[in-house]
Amino acid sequence: MGRKFWVGGNWKMNGDKKGIEEIVKFLAAGPLDPNVEVVVGIPAIYLESTKNILPSNVAAAAQNCYKVPKGAFTGEISPAMLNDIGINWVILGHSERRNVFGEKDDLISDKVVHALESGLNVVACIGEKLEEREGGKTEEVVFQQTKAIADKIKDWSKVVIAYEPVWAIGTGKTATPEQAQDVHKKLREWLSKNVSEQVAQDTRIVYGGSVTGANCNELAREADIDGFLVGGASLKPEFVQIINAKN
Ligand code: PEP
Repeated sequence: MGRKFWVGGNWKMNGDKKGIEEIVKFLAAGPLDPNVEVVVGIPAIYLESTKNILPSNVAAAAQNCYKVPKGAFTGEISPAMLNDIGINWVILGHSERRNVFGEKDDLISDKVVHALESGLNVVACIGEKLEEREGGKTEEVVFQQTKAIADKIKDWSKVVIAYEPVWAIGTGKTATPEQAQDVHKKLREWLSKNVSEQVAQDTRIVYGGSVTGANCNELAREADIDGFLVGGASLKPEFVQIINAKN
């Protein structure tokens, strides 16, 4: 069986009650390709209320969670809490978590391990910065970020890898389909060599970085691009077009 196309929206720290109702309205109106798995990353404070109004073909994700079930960690939320309110997905290691909040591979991989152990599905984000790309270090960086996770997990069935070049996030500069395909293919080869051929074939590797209604179709045609993680455009009705990019 092929890899099911996966499209996630990452609302980041955007939206209010009224704005979220508008997003839910265009998602409900769709129509959304039934062959696509759709997930939206919601600010923690709105997770439960939004989950209760989302159409049944759209799942809710948290944008972060911590690496233990409970305790003295002011401001954090745990996978146990997400389970408690019926949330099945979490985005971890987003470049804003890495670069604005200083999260390192070690913490991110601990979070991935704990989220998986708690039964959550994980979107694990990786990606190089502009100076790393320009310095010819793209592969080294994304392989290292992937290895940090691969070293600690065994079961990949609930993991989606989001390749998000940092220079393309929120900048309007999308990677070309060739650039994205090149990295996705190399990541799949890395998984084949370092994890297993089965995991390489089964794991969705999605692209993120200024995906829009205008560029999604050509990106979706690439063999190793199994979907998208979408920031800015996921707040707008064009997100429906991105979900349907394969059509
Ligand atoms: C993101 O936040 O993961 C992202 C890819 O943002 P944008 O689509 O706005 O570049």
